[in-house]
Amino acid sequence: MLVSEQKPMEEILRSLDGEKRIFLVGCKGCAEGCESGGEQQVIEMKQKLEEEGKTITGFSLIDMVCNESLTRMKLASHRQATDSADSLLVLTCGIGVQSTAAVVDKVVHPGCNTISSGGAHAEWKEAERCLECGDCILDYTGGICPIARCPKNLFHGPCGGSEGGKCEIHPDLPCAWHLIIERLSKLGRLDKLEAVVPPKDWSVSLTGGPPRPR
Ligand code: SF4
Ligand code: SF4
Repeated sequence: MLVSEQKPMEEILRSLDGEKRIFLVGCKGCAEGCESGGEQQVIEMKQKLEEEGKTITGFSLIDMVCNESLTRMKLASHRQATDSADSLLVLTCGIGVQSTAAVVDKVVHPGCNTISSGGAHAEWKEAERCLECGDCILDYTGGICPIARCPKNLFHGPCGGSEGGKCEIHPDLPCAWHLIIERLSKLGRLDKLEAVVPPKDWSVSLTGGPPRPR
């Protein structure tokens, strides 16, 4: 099971700043098991956001949001509600956030931090998508993870070595930062890259920080 925990509400509200209409995505798989993004947490989040003056255009609870095909199919049935939203808030592991970003042309906000894969692998299997860093930054990167997909784990890419959109380290792979910039350009949200982001706290990362008792 991919282990995630909900981000603090202040951080979620900060990421939604300036956006009024939100569509929520929850997961009936791991996130429900972790109580970070199952049915109860989605309903609670809806109430909290409404109290903050947001309009929830709709929500979807998907069996496994990390299954990109399933997410595509499920969200297609909510097309009107997602189209009328300013953004989507996704209460799942980082892979679920990325599969949502891959199927919807909207800004997608992570509502959770992924803290462990729990020895399992998500349903979107063709590439590594999340390294359980414990402090998800997909909000700034158009829903594409530079920690998992850039060999240099760059937070301020591209490194200058990419050619034709390919990574200089692995020319058979796309440059993660090329993808991030392409996506943010398409969404008209290159301003995301202007945000001053505090240095990353690696102490909460399973792979980059000290071991934590769990
Ligand atoms: S930033 Fe990447 S590694 Fe960190 S939780 Fe999000 S998807 Fe996972
Ligand atoms: S080319 Fe892109 S993906 Fe590859 S190391 Fe440089 S920034 Fe990272």
